[in-house]
Amino acid sequence: MKKIALHWKILIGIISGLVVGILLNVVSGGQLDHGIFYVLKLVFHYMGDIFVRLLKMMVVPLVFASIYMAIVNLKSIKEIGKIGSKTIGYYLLTTALAVGMGLIVVNLIQPGNVDGALGDSLREAMGIPEKVTNASVGDKGSVEIILDTLVGMIPKNPIEAFATMNVLQIIFFSIFLALIAIAIPKKSAPLSNVVESIDALIQKGVAVLMKVAPFFLFFVVGRMFMKVGVVALLPLIKYAFTVLLGLSVHGFVTLPILIWLFTRKNPYKLLSQMITPLLTAWATASSAATLPVTMKTLQDDVGVNPKVSNFVLPLGATINMDGTALYESVAVIFIAGIMGIELTVGAQLIIFITASLAAMGAAAIPGAGLVTMGIVLSAVGLPLDAIGMILAVDALLDQFRTAINVWGDATAAYVINQSESKCLDMNKDV
Ligand code: ASP
Repeated sequence: MKKIALHWKILIGIISGLVVGILLNVVSGGQLDHGIFYVLKLVFHYMGDIFVRLLKMMVVPLVFASIYMAIVNLKSIKEIGKIGSKTIGYYLLTTALAVGMGLIVVNLIQPGNVDGALGDSLREAMGIPEKVTNASVGDKGSVEIILDTLVGMIPKNPIEAFATMNVLQIIFFSIFLALIAIAIPKKSAPLSNVVESIDALIQKGVAVLMKVAPFFLFFVVGRMFMKVGVVALLPLIKYAFTVLLGLSVHGFVTLPILIWLFTRKNPYKLLSQMITPLLTAWATASSAATLPVTMKTLQDDVGVNPKVSNFVLPLGATINMDGTALYESVAVIFIAGIMGIELTVGAQLIIFITASLAAMGAAAIPGAGLVTMGIVLSAVGLPLDAIGMILAVDALLDQFRTAINVWGDATAAYVINQSESKCLDMNKDV
């Protein structure tokens, strides 16, 4: 109940920021450099900045700790054997399909394709002074961009990577360190304990940020509409529509087709059985909070063997986030569009890879995808401050993408249960 209340609060914060921002824009005639309007502009600007900075503050420790822990914990997969590799394979497949769908809808609808002047004022409202922050995104050929990014992932100095927030290099270093940690478990145990603790603290930190989000979102949203006015609504609505369309196609078409291909059973029957966990995911915006409901439904109502669901679902809640992956690819391309940057095929491929990684790295809690989107933004040279542009609709989209995240996990449990049913000596018909 408390979590639903938080979402209402977030909604109130956003809508009041939107209304106040538009009113101030109208009353001031967009002239915010004198008198009371100047004071208000500063208040909104700095209050909004505090929240965006707090979000950015979480990125480096969150990426490092969550990727390191995900890999260190994966070692148990070897013990689980066949189910483990099937599950990981299925998760990689659905994540790739989700990002692919995100790229298709965002390129078709092009929500970020706005008038240059509107793009400039949106960018300025976020406090981003430069037009293009990384010329390499626009100029180089596809192959070169990919090679540059891949080779550039290896940090010459990990400390520098952490200090300069080079998220791709941090990912490389985290994976490298975690693989070595698995090889020498005794020696690495103290470090793994520390990282586990950092992981837990940062997750709690993100939860705390979400608690104060309603207050700060008033300013983040207000400052954008104060500067840009009501015209800022249209691209945002188009963007939200694009994400929702992509999520719907993935949830109602792609995943059902996969179920049918792998099991030859009616996918929509499973969907109807999943109503309670999906609504819980929508209401809480947290796959972790929904996990107990998902497990109970699949075991008791659908008849999935606990041997399968106990492994597939917790792992899925951690690393399989179809909705988040899709949303991140759409959001980054939307932001690039607003900033007037045309992304080449190579840059979109980088987004494909990094959005999949970023979704895997996202914790199963509200707002986590927003934080790990920093990975994708920095991979294509976009400034992290640009996330301010999409904050007005993020809480709402979080609810829908979480529902799709949970639906993706459930389809995995169902499909793997079917394929393992003989080996596991099951007697229930699923
Ligand atoms: N809220 C999502 C989840 O728990 C993660 C995200 O922010 O995308 O699944």
